[in-house]
Amino acid sequence: MGKYSKFKVLIVEDDEDDYILLEELLLEAVGDIGAITWAEDYKSAQARIANEHFDFYFLDNRLGAELGLDLIVEIKQQYETAPPIIMLSGVDDYKTDLEAMEKGADDYLIKSELTAHLLERTFRYSLKSKDLEAKLAKLAHYDGLTGLYNRSLFNELLVKTIQQSERSGQKFALVTLDLDNFKFVNDNYGHPAGDQLLTKISRRLKHSTRSSDIVARLGGDEFSLLLKDVKNDSDFVKLVQNIMAIFQEPIQVDSKSVSVTTSAGIAIFPTDAQIASELIDNSDRAMYQAKALGRNNYSFYNQKLHQVAIVKHQLELELNAAIDNNELLLHYQPIVSLSTREIISYEALLRWPDSKNGFRNTEEFIEVAEESSLILKIGDWVFQQACLQLKIWSEQGIKDRHISINVSANQFNSDDFTERVESYVKETPDLAQKLTIELTERKPLIISPTTVNRLLLLSGIGFKFSVDDFGIGHSSISYLRAFPMDSIKIDKSIIQNILKSNEDLALCTAIIALGKALSLDVIAEGVETEEIANLLNSLNCPYAQGYLYSKPMPL
Ligand code: C2E
Ligand code: CA
Ligand code: CA
Repeated sequence: MGKYSKFKVLIVEDDEDDYILLEELLLEAVGDIGAITWAEDYKSAQARIANEHFDFYFLDNRLGAELGLDLIVEIKQQYETAPPIIMLSGVDDYKTDLEAMEKGADDYLIKSELTAHLLERTFRYSLKSKDLEAKLAKLAHYDGLTGLYNRSLFNELLVKTIQQSERSGQKFALVTLDLDNFKFVNDNYGHPAGDQLLTKISRRLKHSTRSSDIVARLGGDEFSLLLKDVKNDSDFVKLVQNIMAIFQEPIQVDSKSVSVTTSAGIAIFPTDAQIASELIDNSDRAMYQAKALGRNNYSFYNQKLHQVAIVKHQLELELNAAIDNNELLLHYQPIVSLSTREIISYEALLRWPDSKNGFRNTEEFIEVAEESSLILKIGDWVFQQACLQLKIWSEQGIKDRHISINVSANQFNSDDFTERVESYVKETPDLAQKLTIELTERKPLIISPTTVNRLLLLSGIGFKFSVDDFGIGHSSISYLRAFPMDSIKIDKSIIQNILKSNEDLALCTAIIALGKALSLDVIAEGVETEEIANLLNSLNCPYAQGYLYSKPMPL
């Protein structure tokens, strides 16, 4: 096989005889060329150019009323560095020749003068010059020492990232890093050592960031990063701390161990600035703030955002430790039949004891957990605890007890949710029948084939599903139609108002009727008084839960 055998060539030529001649000469010139595509007019050429990539283009200049010259722009648009483009002409016309070159053609050939030899040279030469062009483009865009993006490409990427963010609504961070003591290394160990240091730091930076992040060296000892795909502000803190951490380990330079630190400034798009130049300025300002704090510090342009992020991050660390140290507890609250007061199930509610004999606010720390992957760890633990409890009861001969478990949307949507849940009941499959999964309506699940299948699969194993906090969400009824549910829990804010508000009473009555119509169990949440319990009973609400019966308690 010849060296051009994988080449794709496009010939745009409206005269069939001319095309056949060119094809023959081309085969004679370069042997088994990969594939030659023929476009016989301007329109079909446009379509080919827009939809396919070629390694070589031949364009006849006269294409009916149109000019092949005009196709050059369209080809160039498809590439960062376009492959060779050769113009063909019936006549030797100096002006067209010049124009072709200006538009970026690589050569200009007169049809009557074509020979195999000439084609072969053109082919070889233009490929070589293209190779060089690509190398030059790389030089213009990448930092020669470290291989990171250079300032000019970084600026382009920043503008692109802003456009993407405007479309997606996602925030991103611009981080400016400046080494604190690079000058010392350079002056005392020499430039080659300085270069080595920069190269090693670059590698660590690439290593400690995700593939979607952008890392650039702007010059000297200054680096810039774009951190994208971030869900919460507290993630920014984590990512920046990862970056700061790479400076903790000394770096080996010429068998010497060198410690360097950095100062980092962070500006967030769009919170801190909406255009590139301002974002750069603000992250620079933040970097100087960090320097002023002393070496080895980072600073957010927006301090308040930083504070909130820090508090959340701190809570996350503590929660993580609490899980590992087994400090979390489950309290249980009974769900009872309104008419008989018989207990039908227990809802497991998470508790995190604080140092003052009380508990942290569950809703608050669950929210933080939901914003990170901690919710998965917590979810695992809750399921395991509940299964353990069911087994203990079963061993004690108490067989008919059920437990309800709260599962948040992020947990339910995690890729391996089904496998995880299946694994909890693997050893004792009949446990599934005793477990109800409560899914809150506050942040509704996305109704998609995946979620519906997930529910069907788990229902098939025996799990029951309940819609939590029903009545205050947005998509209540569509939800019930799309998902195979077993029960609904009327939100406590409605229940607690049914004596005072006719609207809430009407809403409650309607939900009870809806439950009956769809054969779903209905549970009233937050029942605190006998009056409310009596009213609910008279409305034929079957089940209730609330302080009237019991607060959530350890078993
Ligand atoms: P939820 O699922 O709606 O749980 C009911 C909440 O109402 C509980 O708050 C419970 O203590 C409280 N409650 C029960 N009866 C009454 C009453 O009569 N009056 C009043 N005022 N409140 C009552 P808690 O334990 O603070 O939990 C708050 C939320 O945190 C839960 O709301 C649930 O969404 C979430 N949560 C709790 N445990 C877990 C868990 O293990 N996993 C997940 N993902 N979320 C959980
Ligand atoms: Ca619940
Ligand atoms: Ca609830």
